[in-house]
Amino acid sequence: MAQDATGGTPVVEGLFAQTADGPRLLGSRCSGCGTPYFPRASVCNHPECPGGTLESAAFGPAGTLWSWAVQNYPPPPPARYDEPYSPYTLGLVDLAEGLRVLARLRSADPARLRAGMAVSLVLAPLCRDASRGELLTWQFEPA
Ligand SMILES: [Zn+2]
Repeated sequence: MAQDATGGTPVVEGLFAQTADGPRLLGSRCSGCGTPYFPRASVCNHPECPGGTLESAAFGPAGTLWSWAVQNYPPPPPARYDEPYSPYTLGLVDLAEGLRVLARLRSADPARLRAGMAVSLVLAPLCRDASRGELLTWQFEPA
């Protein structure tokens, strides 16, 4: 399993990458109608798509926070987290590319969050794994 430039290992391969331009989510875009997908998709399911192929695309880092909630209880498997469980904030973020994604909000005091605030994609630690070391996931933080 490849290590990320930040020194950690992606919790799941193929969802995100550290690129020369910074962190990006790895998805796809339909050549027929332009619909973006994250994670990658193999077929376009836009009802008005004239037909096309799905090509690899990278999204981010700029986003806009749309909504959020503090997760006070541990998520069910296969979610990963360090013990003891520590609440975190989960946000809905609109990306400039037309995607709305769900992600952890990093280092964010929920009382300071505002709908419409600018956020930026980061790759940050999710938890430690006994055999794989520090696992990274995509998160957003106030820009
Ligand atoms: Zn399409």
